[in-house]
Amino acid sequence: MKITVHRGTHQIGGCVTEIASENDRVFIDFGTDLPGCEGAPATPIPGLTVPDDTNCALFLTHYHGDHIGRLKEVAPGVPVYLGATAREIYLRYLQRIEKEISGHADAMLPLSPLRTVRLGGISVTPLMVDHSAFDAYMFLIEAEGKRILHTGDFRLHGFRGKGTLPALERYARDVDLVICETTNLSREEIGMTERDLQNEARNIMQEHKYVFVLCSSTNIDRIGSFYHANPRGRLFLCDEYQKEILEIVRKHHASKSRFYDFAHVLDYGTNLDNLMEERGFCMLIRQGETFAQLLRRYRGRDAVVYSMWSGYLKGETRSAELAAFLAKEQLTFLHTSGHASTGDLAALCRTVRPKYGVIPIHGETPERLAELLPEEDIHILSDGEVFTL
Ligand SMILES: [Zn+2]
Ligand SMILES: [Zn+2]
Repeated sequence: MKITVHRGTHQIGGCVTEIASENDRVFIDFGTDLPGCEGAPATPIPGLTVPDDTNCALFLTHYHGDHIGRLKEVAPGVPVYLGATAREIYLRYLQRIEKEISGHADAMLPLSPLRTVRLGGISVTPLMVDHSAFDAYMFLIEAEGKRILHTGDFRLHGFRGKGTLPALERYARDVDLVICETTNLSREEIGMTERDLQNEARNIMQEHKYVFVLCSSTNIDRIGSFYHANPRGRLFLCDEYQKEILEIVRKHHASKSRFYDFAHVLDYGTNLDNLMEERGFCMLIRQGETFAQLLRRYRGRDAVVYSMWSGYLKGETRSAELAAFLAKEQLTFLHTSGHASTGDLAALCRTVRPKYGVIPIHGETPERLAELLPEEDIHILSDGEVFTL
């Protein structure tokens, strides 16, 4: 088998990995560069962006832009797979940000946990993971008697993270190779578990009757943390778009876990102003005039919780619009990473025990993986370099 990491060997994001057997090829993820983490200019990829006569498919681990953002460039006729609920969330998100949804997005095929997809002689089995995107997967890719685990983005310190190592022990032990995300080899260490974060959210809500929260509209587990921390009797509010996203999750997952039963979410309208004042609230906000007005109205009496990566507010990755939106607010920072800690990266590799080592991707300092896992063969590739297994 031949493995080519077309992009993403030395950057966080911009991912696209190709795994090829004699006759068939699968691509994993096809994302754009994250701001401030740009790699070399993107070049055409035969089979994926330029049609050829081989049997190809694209499997997306999750809907973050650095994994899905180049979907429009996929050549016609190449099947694209994404988690079933993730696909619905992503289509609703696109509807908000784009006038037109491309045929590729609409035609995406749904993946379900442990439902193997076969493409000629290659099979791909999705293993559910905990990440800051909902319905995200690792992939176990099997062909020519070899087994490869591609981790996508994952973490073990979320609500569902504790199931990951046992699942890997069961389905992916003794693989031949791991292709592993390494975001937190260069970023700050993880501060807290998602459960610790939820407890802290509870404390903030005890102290403040009016709480605004800035977090990603598609970070469902984070929204769940705040939703369940909101004291009884207080309103939980957001805009119409956010409510629809939460309804998608509720429709498919509330029956499996009460955590995803977002039954008491209200779509904000001025008719609720008096009730908000009286009962107090937790409100999910984003940039925009409606929310800016509400922030002004409650300024000095509220808590404004910033629950995203701090890089959006500083340095090269700063968003000027977001900084302007929040310029007058006193922020309370409450966040934890969507990516595995270095200790958890090591725990994953030690669980699956790859025979021929690890290819680090999705990180700025892949060579640090060798310090972390001295017993493993760590293969540091360049973008586009072919690794033969
Ligand atoms: Zn990513
Ligand atoms: Zn991600």
